[in-house]
Amino acid sequence: MIVILKENLSKKQVGEVLRQLSDLNLEIHNATLNDRNIVAISEFPHDFDIRRIKLLDGVQDVFEVREPYKLASRTWKKEPTTFDVKGITIGGNMINTIAGPCAVESEEQIFSIAKMLHQNGVKFIRGGAYKPRTSPYTFQGMAVEGLKLLRQAADQYNLRVVTEIIDLSVLDEVYEYADILQVGTRNMMNFYMLTELGNIDKPVMLKRGMSSKITEWLMSAEYILSGGNEKVILCERGIRTFDSSVRNTLDVAAFPIIKELSHLPVFSDPSHGTGLRHRVTPMALASIAAGADGLMIEVHNNPEQALSDGPQSLFPDQFVTMLEKIKPIAHVVGRTLDIEIPNTATAAK
Ligand code: PEP
Ligand code: MN
Repeated sequence: MIVILKENLSKKQVGEVLRQLSDLNLEIHNATLNDRNIVAISEFPHDFDIRRIKLLDGVQDVFEVREPYKLASRTWKKEPTTFDVKGITIGGNMINTIAGPCAVESEEQIFSIAKMLHQNGVKFIRGGAYKPRTSPYTFQGMAVEGLKLLRQAADQYNLRVVTEIIDLSVLDEVYEYADILQVGTRNMMNFYMLTELGNIDKPVMLKRGMSSKITEWLMSAEYILSGGNEKVILCERGIRTFDSSVRNTLDVAAFPIIKELSHLPVFSDPSHGTGLRHRVTPMALASIAAGADGLMIEVHNNPEQALSDGPQSLFPDQFVTMLEKIKPIAHVVGRTLDIEIPNTATAAK
């Protein structure tokens, strides 16, 4: 941390600031730079509130040089985090594909999509059973019935389940049926929930808050990691910007930035990150080229009749074409796909 003192302080005033900093039990190193007094503080506890320094008389500004998160940082752990989900590696050299409908809607729908995913070598199915919708008058999900159908379809087609936990009151149910628990954009700062998810032994996919800075996102990951759960996947799903021409702005720069700052795997959700299906494939390709470790894609057997997010859901044939396009991009960036597309693969009709 660097503390810049005000200009034209007397020696006595500078001495007084230094004394007050020492009284805060901080290790200080005094220096001058361009005739300004500055103080470098090398060691301070993670829970230290730097506003205590900003309030001191004689202090002009304070800059934090160290990241506020620890366990999520690359300084703490250099090697990329990898872990296994029922025989499939997440992170490292691997690129994973999670796909499925926005919401589980019926037995016929989820089994049809699961079959199509399986035929195309996909290993993870997604689908919300509890839907955090913007309007209370829209479809809110099938709840436990949806979780059961999702699990049955996944088991039949050898898929792993990724589904959202919208509230702690449904933790037991979601834990029972999910292989990866998804925290949605609206819950990224639900710190009580994140703390509880730090105590479970299943991976958590933490979506970026739609108005969150990367540092805040990593701080949320820190909540889960500090509870002892090291299986955290970050997921960029688009943020709010001034531009209304997209539903959300998929922050493709977040992928290299996360790689610089953290060891955690980071996935891309270009479905929520664009809001319209014809924009999904280009942004999926861009994400993999930019270093994303996986994709989360909304695909539906009948997008025009979907009960939620139909316009951003791919048709099965579009999904298959997207997978084919990802293959060479993954190859160029030296990554391995967790899907193996059989030659005979066809999209479910
Ligand atoms: C979802 O993936 O179903 C979802 C609701 O996403 P988000 O939280 O990113 O809006
Ligand atoms: Mn959706």
